[in-house]
Amino acid sequence: MIARVTLEIALRKEFDYLIPPELRAQVEVGTRVKVPFGPRQVMGCVTALVEESPHTNLRAILKVVGAQSLVTPSILKLARWIADYYCCSVEAALKSVLPEAVRKEKAGWRERLFARALPLAGDLPRLTRRQQEVWNVIEEWRETVRKLEDKGLVSIGPQISERDPYAGELILPTQPLALNAEQAAALQKIIESIDAQPEKAGKRESGKAGEQVCDASSSPARLPTGPPAVFLLHGVTGSGKTEIYLQAIACALQQGRGAIVLVPEISLTPQTVERFKARFCSGPLQTLVAVLHSHLSAGERHDEWHKIRQGRARIVIGARSAIFAPVDPLGLIVVDEEHEYSYKQEEAPRYHARDVAVVRGQMEGAVVVLGSATPSLESFHNAQKGKYSLLQLPHRADDRKMPLVRVIDMRQESRKEKGTPIFSQKLKEEITLRLERREQVMLFLNRRGYATSLQCPKCGFVAECPNCSVALTYHRSRQRLLCHICAYEAQAPTLCPNGKCRNPAIRYAGLGTEKVEDTLTKLFPRARVRRMDSDALKRKDDYRRILGDFRTGKIDILVGTQMIAKGLHFPNVTLVGIIYADLSLHQPDFRAGERTFQLLTQVSGRAGRGEVEGEVVVQAFTPFHPAIQYARRHDFAGFYEQEIEFREQLKYPPVSRAALLTLKGRNEEKVRLSADHVRKEIEKLAGRGSQKVGKRESESAEPVKSGAMSAHFPAFPLSQPPALHALPDLIIAGPAPAPLLRAETYYRYQLMLRTRQMSKLSRSLANVLETLSLPEDVSLMVDVDPVNLA
Ligand SMILES: [Zn+2]
Ligand SMILES: [Zn+2]
Repeated sequence: MIARVTLEIALRKEFDYLIPPELRAQVEVGTRVKVPFGPRQVMGCVTALVEESPHTNLRAILKVVGAQSLVTPSILKLARWIADYYCCSVEAALKSVLPEAVRKEKAGWRERLFARALPLAGDLPRLTRRQQEVWNVIEEWRETVRKLEDKGLVSIGPQISERDPYAGELILPTQPLALNAEQAAALQKIIESIDAQPEKAGKRESGKAGEQVCDASSSPARLPTGPPAVFLLHGVTGSGKTEIYLQAIACALQQGRGAIVLVPEISLTPQTVERFKARFCSGPLQTLVAVLHSHLSAGERHDEWHKIRQGRARIVIGARSAIFAPVDPLGLIVVDEEHEYSYKQEEAPRYHARDVAVVRGQMEGAVVVLGSATPSLESFHNAQKGKYSLLQLPHRADDRKMPLVRVIDMRQESRKEKGTPIFSQKLKEEITLRLERREQVMLFLNRRGYATSLQCPKCGFVAECPNCSVALTYHRSRQRLLCHICAYEAQAPTLCPNGKCRNPAIRYAGLGTEKVEDTLTKLFPRARVRRMDSDALKRKDDYRRILGDFRTGKIDILVGTQMIAKGLHFPNVTLVGIIYADLSLHQPDFRAGERTFQLLTQVSGRAGRGEVEGEVVVQAFTPFHPAIQYARRHDFAGFYEQEIEFREQLKYPPVSRAALLTLKGRNEEKVRLSADHVRKEIEKLAGRGSQKVGKRESESAEPVKSGAMSAHFPAFPLSQPPALHALPDLIIAGPAPAPLLRAETYYRYQLMLRTRQMSKLSRSLANVLETLSLPEDVSLMVDVDPVNLA
């Protein structure tokens, strides 16, 4: 028998190894192995078992790592899909499907040494002082623990020492809540779909290698009932989506299947986790709920992962990478806040967990529920086209009204006040009123720091980062200038640093959360104000502590960045203020409007979740922008209609799919020339795939005019589709300087490709990457379905 192995060192190739007779029983698809490679020994993963190899003189596998195959055949198949679609190597994809803590050769369960005092034969021998101290501790503790045991308070016995990140939390079981008619109708649809999936009896028990051989070409469509449904659950903030998730999971468990729940990292609060644990920690469906996210220690992650692999935990709740949890059989995948950009991984493989969820659901016969109050245009477009089933919850679960949203025109306020005030008259009045009524206020500004730039009014000097093309942000509490891209720090100067100027009257322009907090404490000296942004959170539990203080009423006004925009539920918050609503509109990104709409809706959703009706004050310099006006009216459908028209005109996603190619290097000219070269290669290679016409390849390719392109929106002016016959709708835009031309000392130039047939394009791009010759100090990144264009 021969094993085909991908190695951890990325080589974009598979290698054949002999399986020595003594390892034959242990090696199957997905097994992690150590193999010789040149003079080295490297780790790899078995991707197939074959009878014969085209190569001779095969070397043998050295050893099998781990008792159980770590990568299940279905996850392996998913990894291959990721490599194909996102244009990365299988090795890179395989790396991200297994947590680091599980992948390591040495990883294991925690071993602990136990010391027990043995009966003494005679007198205690002579001990050093240190030895004596330790002996005393053992003796004393033994006595004390035995006494506690006598009292029936503790039990003593051997035990596996499993790390539980949530140990010590008292979790009270909860019962399913009564649903309103809208919720019940939505749940019904999901349950019908789960029920329609055939039972996978015995699948989990079968450990035989023969049955588990993965065949990437085998289609999941052999299910007699057809592929399972993908639902888009569009429910306004407070409409009770989580309760639907919980009851749908219960249904999957009844069927003997497990579930994965993805939530954005930032929403993965103890509150959220508790809600899931509380529902499933007791009762007839009792199962372990495993949690996977980046704040776990490596050991905790290892243990949580193996609880899932062993089938002891059948519900997994986690951030992005939890989509690869080895739940088997899988009945349901929930992606909460599906519009969140944090589901996209910003390093290779650049996968989008929501899209991977849909693919995995189809592969494994699991129903997928995408939930959001502000669905992404991509998902809503799919629902409109009938690819997803749309479920809507237009009302809040408890029949509370949506908050009243007022938009304040800050241009008028500026005129009144001669200068730009932080707070409009209206917002000040409303805050005063809430403080009098002992209600709570949340103020939102998506920019941290005190001032956004340091400027000299005399000579025009602006303090810029030496590594990036951005101005440094002034953080007053630390008296430092910081770069928010590369974390460069400098002392804040007191004179203009320009040697010829030395003006002492330098100014700090712009506004950040620190200044909002500062101004509030001056305006409302008796109010208890706290700030929540990444600067204010120093220790691991700060986030939790500040939210706890807010919940118990120890804080009157909470100021924060997007950190406070998500999923928080505080019944006493009756006013939400948005300081600069149009901040996110002025980004060089075709999704700027969508982002603004989402942010305003999510932040507004924090108001009025208790007895008293909520109010939202939105301050804006472009108050009539559609994204702001539709958010004011809580009108998602209206926003979608006008936004999709704009995307249609410019052929931007979701009307097409995009791939962003970024070239970077320290020499700007080299980067620019390389980008031109890449464009030419793509034109050639994408055309070569055609079988009908092969000659007119580069005829209509338009001349590259990179220098003339502006870094501002639209970063990618429409170009004439070149004659690429394999992909007739391919649009190649650029090269153009990236919106952030220089980051961390690297210059960046971009090309954006758009087509409806991304899988085809990905394959062509893989070819381009193989054959491309770039200067050594210029690198190329491919981002399929990018969400960050900077
Ligand atoms: Zn100056
Ligand atoms: Zn920087």
